[in-house]
Amino acid sequence: MSKRKEDGKAQVPDPKEERFRGKIDYLRVSVTDRCNLRCIYCMPEEGVKLLPPEKILSYEELTILCRAAARMGIGKVRITGGEPLVRKNIVDFVEMLSGIVPAVDISITTNGVLLSEYAESLKAVGLNRINISLDALDPETYRLITKRDGFAAVMKGINKALEVGMSPVKINVVALKGTNDDPSPFIDLTRILPVHVRFIEYMPQFGNAKNLMFVSGKEIMERIRSIFPLEETREIEAWGPAKKHYRVKGALGTFALISPVSSHFCSDCNRLRVSCNGKLRACLFDSDGIDVGRILRVSDDIEEIAEIIKKQLSRKRKEFSNRSFLDKSGFAGWMSSIGG
Ligand code: SAM
Ligand code: SF4
Repeated sequence: MSKRKEDGKAQVPDPKEERFRGKIDYLRVSVTDRCNLRCIYCMPEEGVKLLPPEKILSYEELTILCRAAARMGIGKVRITGGEPLVRKNIVDFVEMLSGIVPAVDISITTNGVLLSEYAESLKAVGLNRINISLDALDPETYRLITKRDGFAAVMKGINKALEVGMSPVKINVVALKGTNDDPSPFIDLTRILPVHVRFIEYMPQFGNAKNLMFVSGKEIMERIRSIFPLEETREIEAWGPAKKHYRVKGALGTFALISPVSSHFCSDCNRLRVSCNGKLRACLFDSDGIDVGRILRVSDDIEEIAEIIKKQLSRKRKEFSNRSFLDKSGFAGWMSSIGG
C-alpha cells in the first residue's frame, strides 16, 4: 500500500449524478457501540452483542478517514456512538481531529450522562456544537425510556455545557406515544435556558418500542401551537434535518421538529455514516455499507480512502435518492450500532 499523500482540494461531484437538492457534505462517525444507557428505541436491555475491541477503529484510523472525507467535500463531522463519551480519551480524538482537519466543523451527539465531567475539556479543544439526547424532564419517565437512572447527571451536563460556552446546545427528544409525547415541559425549558429542542419522530425500524408508540411531528406541533404563542426564527443554522425553527415569544431557546418517518425526502439527506468498525453507509437502510475499516487498518493513503468515499457518494446519489422510510417495515438493526 502506498504512503499517505497530501490532502488536495475538495473534489466536486459529477453533476450528472447529482439528484440531491443540496450537497452531501456531512459524515456521522460512530466511535463506539458501547453505551451506559439502554434506550428502548435504540438498544436491547440485555444480551447486547458488542464488537470485540480489536474490531473498533483507532482514533488515528478515524482521523485518516475524516481527512479523506474532507478531501471529498465533507465539511461537517458529527461524533456519535453508542455513547461517545464512554470511549477512553475521547477529548484527545476531538483535539486530534480539530488539529488535523481544521476545515471541518466538528460536533458531538451524546446522552449527556458524563458530560459535566467532559464539557470543559471538550470546549477547550474546540468543540462548540453539542446535541444532548434527553427524552424526559422527570426522573421516572427518563428511567422508563433509558432503563437507567441518569436524569440528574444529564441536567448537570446541560448546565455545564452552557456554563463553558458551548453553542448551540441542542436537546434531542424522541417522542413516544403515551410516554413522553407531551411537549410542554420541553417548551417551558426553552423559556428559561438558551437550548434548542428538537422533537424527533421515532423510527420503529431501529428499536424496541412498538410501532404503536410512533407519534408524528405534526401531532407534536399541533399540541405546541394549541398552548404557546409562537414565532419562526432563523437564528439557528439549517444544515441539519430540521428546516424550520420556532420560538415561544420571549423564550431564550428555540425548538424544531425532525420528521424522518412522516416527511422524509432522500433528496434532502446530506449525510454518510461510518460505524465504529468501519462500515461506511450511504443511507440508514444501506445494510451492508462498504468496509472502509479493512482498508484503514493497512493503509493511511488519503487518496485510496477518498476513492472509497467517492464510491459511496456515487452510490448514495444513484441508489438512495428516492427511497421512502414508509416503504420499510420490520427490524433494520439497532440504532446504537449504526450511530443515529
Ligand atoms: N448515545 C448518543 C445519544 O443518545 O445522543 C449518541 C448515539 S444515538 C444512537 C444518536 C441519536 O439517535 C440520539 O439522539 C437518539 O435519540 C437517536 N435514535 C436512536 N434510535 C432511534 C430511533 N429508533 N428513532 C429515532 N431516533 C433514534
Ligand atoms: Fe445509548 Fe444513545 Fe442509543 Fe440511548 S440513544 S441507548 S444513549 S446510543
